[in-house]
Amino acid sequence: MKIGVLALQGDFAEHIVMLKRIGVEAAEVRLPAHLNDLDGLIMPGGESTTIGKLAVAYRLMDPLREFGRQKAIWGTCAGAIFLSKDVRRDQPLLGIMDITVQRNAFGRQVNSFEVDLDIPELKAATGSDAPYHTVFIRAPLIETVNGDAKIISQLPDGRIVAARQGKLLATSFHPELTRDERFHQYFVSLCR
Ligand code: GLN
Repeated sequence: MKIGVLALQGDFAEHIVMLKRIGVEAAEVRLPAHLNDLDGLIMPGGESTTIGKLAVAYRLMDPLREFGRQKAIWGTCAGAIFLSKDVRRDQPLLGIMDITVQRNAFGRQVNSFEVDLDIPELKAATGSDAPYHTVFIRAPLIETVNGDAKIISQLPDGRIVAARQGKLLATSFHPELTRDERFHQYFVSLCR
């Protein structure tokens, strides 16, 4: 099992640390050729406009779309924005996951927050359904979940913060910034 982490911008290093901690080989992805021998890919948080522009410059857009047709991709925060079909702004998007997203939906950096959530899908992959501590940093909201995509987690008020469509996974929050390894284990189970 080898999982790549898109390493154009953002907190890719934290994802790599987490993957290594659960015993998974991890590799930085900056060029199309780096996708060749991977079982899955994580796209980190950061600034989605920057990540998109760099992906265009490095000719990664079509190779990433092709990868997502066959293998698992997980976008956290900016990575989830980049996966989505529409953000109602002009910026490069992969557009391969049937969700629409609102950027910076919770306000500015100072409105970042943490909350414990119920994420039932973690149970099958990890055996534990203890509440999952989530970190939101200038986070996007998943506005609509369409086609065969489904909701994985919601805030107590019902707003959607995680979704999955087959092997494509999108989270508004940052599991790589906690010490709880369950979300990464869950993603590994989607890569198998
Ligand atoms: N605000 C960023 C964006 O819109 C996402 C923030 C994050 O990835 N933590 O791209």
